[in-house]
Amino acid sequence: MTFTNLGLRPELLQAVERQGYTRPTPIQLKSIPVILDKKDILGGAQTGTGKTAAFTLPLLQNLSSNGLEKSKHPRALIIAPTRELANQIRQSIVEYGQFLPYNSAAIFGGVKIGGQINWLRQGLDIVVATPGRLLDHINQKTINLSKVEYLILDEADRMLDMGFIRDIRKIISRLPAKRQNMLFSATYNKEIKKLSTELLHRPVLVEVNPQNSAADTVEQVVYNVEKSQKQHLLSYMIKEESWYQVLVFTRTKYGASKLSKQLNKAGIKSSDIHGNKSQNARTKALKEFKEGQLQALVATDIAARGLDIAKLTHVVNFDLPNAAEDYIHRIGRTGRAGADGQAISFCSHDERSQLWSIEKLLDRKIPVKKAEGFVPPPAPVQNQQNNQGRPATRNRAQNSGRPQARTQDGSRPQSRSQSNNRPTDSRRKIAGGKTDGGKFYSPEKRATTRASGSR
Ligand code: AMP
Repeated sequence: MTFTNLGLRPELLQAVERQGYTRPTPIQLKSIPVILDKKDILGGAQTGTGKTAAFTLPLLQNLSSNGLEKSKHPRALIIAPTRELANQIRQSIVEYGQFLPYNSAAIFGGVKIGGQINWLRQGLDIVVATPGRLLDHINQKTINLSKVEYLILDEADRMLDMGFIRDIRKIISRLPAKRQNMLFSATYNKEIKKLSTELLHRPVLVEVNPQNSAADTVEQVVYNVEKSQKQHLLSYMIKEESWYQVLVFTRTKYGASKLSKQLNKAGIKSSDIHGNKSQNARTKALKEFKEGQLQALVATDIAARGLDIAKLTHVVNFDLPNAAEDYIHRIGRTGRAGADGQAISFCSHDERSQLWSIEKLLDRKIPVKKAEGFVPPPAPVQNQQNNQGRPATRNRAQNSGRPQARTQDGSRPQSRSQSNNRPTDSRRKIAGGKTDGGKFYSPEKRATTRASGSR
């Protein structure tokens, strides 16, 4: 089956060809005919399956079904949980709709509202928005939703996780009753089912993967590693295995900033994105990462939601997520559209229960691996800051003669005196940062030439 067989108009076929897509992905094959048929749809598709095109292509076609006139007020409204995802969807609209006349914009918080008001005044056919800023526009009467014919909720599960349900209900109450509704969600739970019953009219259920599963193309492994060793192990692996682009997840914003600084110190160019960063800083970090100027991007779950980074090969769960579903979202950043990817999880002693929940959700064990050749540096003994920013107490076990915790390979960590204060070769590699740190091992010049559009 090809895109032509799906009955898409020539402008869309041309755009798809320009993207280099030869065949529709399974979610596209299943969703496009349903949406073209103007039916409501409940799409269960994990991230990276090509679901943005699955709704954007038929949406553009439906908009043009009665001619190619542009509209003063939005005819299509797409709601997404995060600014990054809203931006990405909007970029896809620009790419897939490049031979059609429609105006679109991404509307989200963290940036001044004035520019958005201007775009809305000039006229937009498609608005992609995050719920909070959209409500601001509704309250300020700067957006007119009376012409909306198509509503899409993307990553609806995450919007509910983020507590947007009331905002979403308010937004929906402002829309014309007669419209086509599309709801996409990577995972399913009771709340999603409830929302879909409220929102969708006789929806067609379209599912491409079993619920709560990860893409088969992602190889998943777990390393058992002490908390204090995680950063060293990560630096070691990035250098040893020559990863040139790795997305790292931490549980907290503080943890993301701290780890990014540590990686930079170790000679691995990195940046961090999370809710405490300005929108400009988030956009800049993401752009640099996509362009290959950064080797590592450290992110919290919310900031990384929906990120589409072409051919991302490695995702690291530096901390395991509290919610097992987040694991699926995280590792879905790699292995996209059938490409291979590796998802590496670091599991410390106190994270065993999270690992257990993830394995229960996946309904399988994640293979445990050992980091060959990794020699942990000595445990910190003085004036070190712990994770909470408080001075660490001395490693009592180490100094009291009591048995010490074992490292991941089962050996006891060496003290400074035992190791003669001289780092071993591989430790020098980690601590010295003089070896190959900072070099990029891009097998190809990464051309992320996504059109950014004027809005
Ligand atoms: P999405 O799940 O929408 O975030 O898409 C994941 C990635 O798949 C994006 O980088 C898309 O550009 C890419 N993609 C979407 N459709 C296709 C297709 N039919 N063939 C190849 N790649 C695709």
